Amino acid sequence: MQSTLNLSGQLLIGQRRIAGNAGTFHAINPATGDTLAPAFSVADAAQVDLAASLAQQAFDTYRETSGEQRANFLEKIADGIEALDMALLERTMAETALPLARLQGERGRTTGQLRMFAEVARNGLWQTPVVDRELPERQPMRRPDMRTRLIPLGPVAMFGASNFPLAFSVAGGDTAAALAAGCPVIVKAHPSHPGTSEAVAAVIQAAAKECGLPEGVFSMLAGPGNEVGQQLVSHPAVQAVAFTGSRVGGLALSRLAQQRTQPIPVYAEMSAINPVFVLPQALAKRASAIATGFVDSLVMGAGQFCTNPGVVLGIGGADWDTFCAAVATAADKRPAGTLLNAGIHRAYVAGVARVSSVTGVELVAQGQKSDGSCAAQVSVFLVDAETFMAAPALHEEVFGPCSLLVRCRDLLQMRAVAEQLEGQLTATLQLEPADEADARQLLPVLERKAGRLLVNGFPTGVEVAHAMVHGGPFPATSDSRGTSVGSRAIERFLRPVCYQDFPTALLPLALKDGQSDHATPPA
Ligand code: NAP
Repeated sequence: MQSTLNLSGQLLIGQRRIAGNAGTFHAINPATGDTLAPAFSVADAAQVDLAASLAQQAFDTYRETSGEQRANFLEKIADGIEALDMALLERTMAETALPLARLQGERGRTTGQLRMFAEVARNGLWQTPVVDRELPERQPMRRPDMRTRLIPLGPVAMFGASNFPLAFSVAGGDTAAALAAGCPVIVKAHPSHPGTSEAVAAVIQAAAKECGLPEGVFSMLAGPGNEVGQQLVSHPAVQAVAFTGSRVGGLALSRLAQQRTQPIPVYAEMSAINPVFVLPQALAKRASAIATGFVDSLVMGAGQFCTNPGVVLGIGGADWDTFCAAVATAADKRPAGTLLNAGIHRAYVAGVARVSSVTGVELVAQGQKSDGSCAAQVSVFLVDAETFMAAPALHEEVFGPCSLLVRCRDLLQMRAVAEQLEGQLTATLQLEPADEADARQLLPVLERKAGRLLVNGFPTGVEVAHAMVHGGPFPATSDSRGTSVGSRAIERFLRPVCYQDFPTALLPLALKDGQSDHATPPA
């Protein structure tokens, strides 16, 4: 049966649906410029306070739920999202202009993440118990019995991303990780897809009720213009922030979090240009195939992936010229993509103009043009390494299908460029076995620069798995110790507590003898 969304435009605070008191806004279809019904209401300060206070009240009850209860909650959310079927995807398409196949894939990824975190909650290993048993005879004094586990941090403020309206939004990886950890979540919905956000939030609200969880375990607030987000991050009940978006936004929220009476961690994923290093033998053997793979990766999702390859480096010569010509051939045919909203479109046009205005930058290829609203023409530029290194403007992310080919003199210069790059989500090596010695020269630099290193692939397409790292040094993220994709994403919402000389009756279950297979470190 075809489901309908019945959007109300209201805020979902705990188990309540409430009209926001601070005005209204609409979603805009980026492909047509049309305003979409209904009007969505904006939370005022009292409504932000209500959501945060309910989360605080829910925390002690929610964090004591069993892994099985949390797993059921997460699985019900996944089932509920699937039950919305085409009604959800049609609304998301209208709000984002992302194509159906892409959104079907993203929905699978979202429900897959929720189910992966259900397993993580169920097996309880995230508590990582560690036991140092008592050494009563130790001289000069007895060593006490010490047992440590991780516990949840508290209510998390989560900012949905514009470019993944399902997988990095209301029920995305950050929410799934925080709920699995035992943290209540308050979502600040992204204003580009408020209908999608409300529909998914309603699923979470219903799942919380069905599972008998305290109502403050989840709320969703809306409102463009920064105020709602700032009030939320400043609220004393909030204990951590998860964010995916612009560098400016992530830094503003990080500063705000540090200025609080009690500073709190902000896990912001912000900007990266994801360098691809094409080593000499790979260039000689596979120039055309690498060029096509690169352009496919660049234009995917209209270039709106945080792992988009924004810079490709190689060593100048005949093979490099063949590669550049193949990039031109592959990119020239590509149709324009539709960007997610008018603001991102303006930023793309300005970013392409910024790159092309640098003296020494040449145009290699432009895709097809379109007069459509928010249309982005594929743009690839070429520059030599000296110019690249001297122009900080070329190191900034241009969010959309724009990339820069950087011609290096030799491997030393390629390494010098790598050394000068900012922190990245990914760094990719295209190599053949005969390139391995050169790769060894680059790897120590790349390990310092990026959260994920790839060989002979392209960075777009982030697997949801236990070993995935979607993070990296600033400005890729605000805290390079974490990942926002994969099961280790839960670690951002946990902190260790040590129980010293506790009687068994008072120990948390995970730390009682015989409860876990943790290793006891040697005395
Ligand atoms: P954004 O402008 O950073 O907004 C993301 C969310 O953060 C929105 O909910 C926004 O709410 C809130 N926000 C932003 N600045 C804030 C501030 N100073 N105080 C409080 N809340 C704030 O990101 P976007 O709209 O998704 O896209 C804009 C740009 O971000 C793109 O052009 C691109 O450069 C970058 N981007 C990067 C990635 C990535 O994965 N690296 C992903 C998406 C976007 P309000 O509406 O209230 O401002």
